Amino acid sequence: MKNYELMKSIIEKIKSYQRIIIFRHYRPDGDAVGSTKGLQRILQLSFPEKEIYLQNSDYCDYMAFLGKEDEPIDESLYESALGIVVDTGTADRASNKKFSLCREIIKIDHHIDIKPYGDISWVEEERSSSCEMIAKFYEAFRDELVLDKEGATYIYTGMVTDSGRFRYRSVSGDTLRLAGMLLDFGIDTDRLYANLYLDEYNALKFKAYVYNNMKMTDNGVVYIYVDRRMQKRFGLTSEQASNVISSLDSIRGSLIWLAFIDGKKGDDAIRVRLRSRFVTVNTLAEKYSGGGHDCAAGATVYSKKEMKALIAEADARLAKYKSENEGWL
Ligand code: AMP
Repeated sequence: MKNYELMKSIIEKIKSYQRIIIFRHYRPDGDAVGSTKGLQRILQLSFPEKEIYLQNSDYCDYMAFLGKEDEPIDESLYESALGIVVDTGTADRASNKKFSLCREIIKIDHHIDIKPYGDISWVEEERSSSCEMIAKFYEAFRDELVLDKEGATYIYTGMVTDSGRFRYRSVSGDTLRLAGMLLDFGIDTDRLYANLYLDEYNALKFKAYVYNNMKMTDNGVVYIYVDRRMQKRFGLTSEQASNVISSLDSIRGSLIWLAFIDGKKGDDAIRVRLRSRFVTVNTLAEKYSGGGHDCAAGATVYSKKEMKALIAEADARLAKYKSENEGWL
């Protein structure tokens, strides 16, 4: 089905249900939170007689400024509901595994569709964010749907964060046109960017530590390992520790950067976040129980030995890329 027809079938499904439950992936980011809260807001404003819930099992500190999600509802309410799962590439990444109890499921996502799921699946891999798709959905049916400044702010926030502030190559003319449509609702961008950029004193101290301790391989892979000791020393939540990846994104000649983050005590899984300019890293992540986009992927390693092996593979990839390409930065 073409995208417009898919959107049409989605709005028809929405109209036919009294109860709709919206879900996202675990370890949420701005796009997961923004797209689901934005969709919830649109549906609440457009269909005030319907019950629209947001049901997830984890939380996102750095998106807390967008406000709370809903308290858990009784499991018995799932059975007759329509479930809409947004920004979640595979069913096992859902924050709330109970989503599958819903009578019918709609998937709305921009990740590579490796393991399709859902009765209706609207996936556009070239979109810069799922929020962009929610904006598109609103635009397509704006005669019937209602949006306000609050909802526009949720959606715009996810567009801004998932596109690296409209910097990534996935940003298209349509991205900016849709962002423009949202801005016209009067979004307070000063407040939004303050929420995104202001840092705690301790977080900046941690950044200083990161720049002092990051390492670079022969060919320019930059990496940092944030072990449990460091997390304790700087009082970091695992989410704050994971955000370290963004500190490594602007080092000249380093086209691949990696962050390794220890999990909780007793768990030997080490989360890996992989980012790159120009070079593809998701295929590397796939070799270490992970996946993701060309230039932003995640994986897991279980020992320092595996960590070293992943770094060596990243280094070899970067060496190859640099030897075969020109004009990289
Ligand atoms: P992260 O570093 O966790 O923000 O992940 C970057 C991107 O890779 C996100 O789009 C994730 O959806 C994706 N990703 C992360 N971990 C995995 C995984 N284990 N399997 C598949 N995709 C992943």
